[in-house]
Amino acid sequence: MAVLRKSVSAPRDPREYDPKIAATDARKIAQHNLLTTIPMDVRGLANALGLRVASMPMDENVSGYLEKEGSGWTIGVNSLHHINRQRFTIAHEIGHYFLHRDRTIFRDGLLFRQAGDIASHEREANLFASLLLMPDVEFRQALTQNNIPVVAEKFGVSQQAANFRVKTLGEGAVYG
Ligand SMILES: [Zn+2]
Repeated sequence: MAVLRKSVSAPRDPREYDPKIAATDARKIAQHNLLTTIPMDVRGLANALGLRVASMPMDENVSGYLEKEGSGWTIGVNSLHHINRQRFTIAHEIGHYFLHRDRTIFRDGLLFRQAGDIASHEREANLFASLLLMPDVEFRQALTQNNIPVVAEKFGVSQQAANFRVKTLGEGAVYG
């Protein structure tokens, strides 16, 4: 049976989202713009969403940020970090855009290392990024044939990110 996918061209109101639904919509927008290559074109997705991506050198312990500038939004990414880490940072900031843009500005230090109230936002953005960069079906398929270092390279993520994704495999499918 064919599955009809509703076309999605823009994110919904953040209040309508959890990370899985948001990542699914983000994959649909990426697919609509022919960006769901492996590795996916995460900068292209940012641009398709109307987000400016500014690469610049930052302190080693800063990954990036999402900030409203005038009527538009800018993602900053630390150009000194490994390219795969930059990809995850951009995906993480797109996650903040989908999930939290009604709330605040995000400046991100070391991912996975936040505390308190901020922590739930960071966990949500990390889960979003993980699901966006490593879609369920393709990731599972790659895992059947390769070890983590090879799979991580295939999807353009760190081994840490690929291991994190393995732990979330039971959390629902993201297609596209
Ligand atoms: Zn963050």
